[in-house]
Amino acid sequence: MIAGTVVLVVIHVILNCCMGMNEEKLFPDESTRTAIAHFLHERLRTARNRLPNGPVTPSVNLESFRATLKSKKFEQPEDIQELFEWVIASLETGIVHPTHPRYFGLFNPQPTFPAICADAIAAEFNPQICVWSHAPVAVEIENHVVEQIASRAGLPNDSRGHFTSGGSEANCTAVVCALTAAESKFAQIGARAFKGQPKIYVSKESHLAWFKIAHQLGIGRNAVSLVPTDGSGRMDTSLLHQQIQHDLSNDEVPILIAATAGTTNAGMVDPLQESAEVAAHFGLWYHIDAAWGGALIASPKYRGELDGIERADSITIDAHKWFATTMGAGIFLTRRAKVLAEAFSVSTDYMPSNDASVDPYVTSIQWSRRFVGLRLFLSLCVAGWEGYARHVEHAINMIDRLVNELAPAGWTVVNASRMAVACLVPPGNSIAVNDLVDRVVAAGNSWVSMTRFEGQAVVRACATNGNLTESDVDQLVADLMKHTVSAPSTAAEERG
Ligand SMILES: *Cc1c(COP(=O)(O)O)cnc(C)c1O
Repeated sequence: MIAGTVVLVVIHVILNCCMGMNEEKLFPDESTRTAIAHFLHERLRTARNRLPNGPVTPSVNLESFRATLKSKKFEQPEDIQELFEWVIASLETGIVHPTHPRYFGLFNPQPTFPAICADAIAAEFNPQICVWSHAPVAVEIENHVVEQIASRAGLPNDSRGHFTSGGSEANCTAVVCALTAAESKFAQIGARAFKGQPKIYVSKESHLAWFKIAHQLGIGRNAVSLVPTDGSGRMDTSLLHQQIQHDLSNDEVPILIAATAGTTNAGMVDPLQESAEVAAHFGLWYHIDAAWGGALIASPKYRGELDGIERADSITIDAHKWFATTMGAGIFLTRRAKVLAEAFSVSTDYMPSNDASVDPYVTSIQWSRRFVGLRLFLSLCVAGWEGYARHVEHAINMIDRLVNELAPAGWTVVNASRMAVACLVPPGNSIAVNDLVDRVVAAGNSWVSMTRFEGQAVVRACATNGNLTESDVDQLVADLMKHTVSAPSTAAEERG
């Protein structure tokens, strides 16, 4: 009996001791933390230095990766340093690398160093920024950045906005605002408040998250009207006008026009002034989706490409694209602060305050929220607008170089964009674009993608890496040429 009790006590002590140890693993003491952080730092440094010499594309054996992954049932505590080794080695070989110098990809940047540091700082303090009173300093830093961006974009001084998870959330916010502003009963009874199908107008070259947004908001995917482009990748605003008139005569309810300033495929800018005229004519909410291209506000040289952006009711600009912060940072801006407050208002007893003018949780989709704005704040402070101007201009120069080097070999560029993306057609009928892209990507030296521009298959190359050098561009040129069999006639001649 006594022996049994002793055994139980011993087991109890051992269990407690183990649990204590596991808690220490989650919240280790100072010296352990320092040692582990140092190890992680060194390990990341090695990976970073190794990366440019390896392939852009995954090379991991996924079968053995999955076997190891599945074996982790979280039953045995593991050593954190060994885990770091495994995770970092897996990432080194298991993803397309946006930080690789020859990733000519989908706007995913090499993140700025200040943004990486901001993530560490935000994680350390973990401020809750849904209410001002919980983290006044963090909320005010974000608001300050938002105000500066809004003012740089030409919006009035009393404009408001907030950081979002990305461009999709910011665009979704615009539609919620537009629906709320269009119909006072929308807040209470939803889509039924409208006497017909609500409609939102975007070009067929727009970012198609609009369909998901319409679905989520309960206005249905039919809400999205894809307006044809004018043959150069820009929304045809006379067809836009006609489409709205047509929808009105069918008892549908036009709500919002979203012009794209920098299409995802081709960096084309819809006619921002004309679209503003159409929106004003019909009394619609005017949104500008400048998720990527919005970064041109930094450059006095290219700012004019966005002429008319200042007329928008609301604007989307992603910090995690051309502003090159780490992932998960978009920005929503609006001159109609009252609508924003109306669209997301709610009152709860347990929140420390409920003042629509200061609390992010009553002016945005998210509730608990990470302090993401610090990434752009630190980056802007360190580089200044001038540093960002050089950053975007460098990217544009690199794409100009690419186009100029390929032209003598018969390549044509089909998108007349002043942004850092080229839609390229290889010479003649030398090779199908998808085959070419597959070969280049499979070789692993550079990453480009295939897309369609005005119906034509093209190679899409976008400068996303702030450290991109002329020699990286030259290597891409070599990669593209190597996989193209030259042919006598050029694509330009064929298109006549
Ligand atoms: C990338 C992009 C989006 C979507 O933004 P996320 O940050 O990926 O959510 C929307 N519109 C345009 C024009 C984009 O380029």
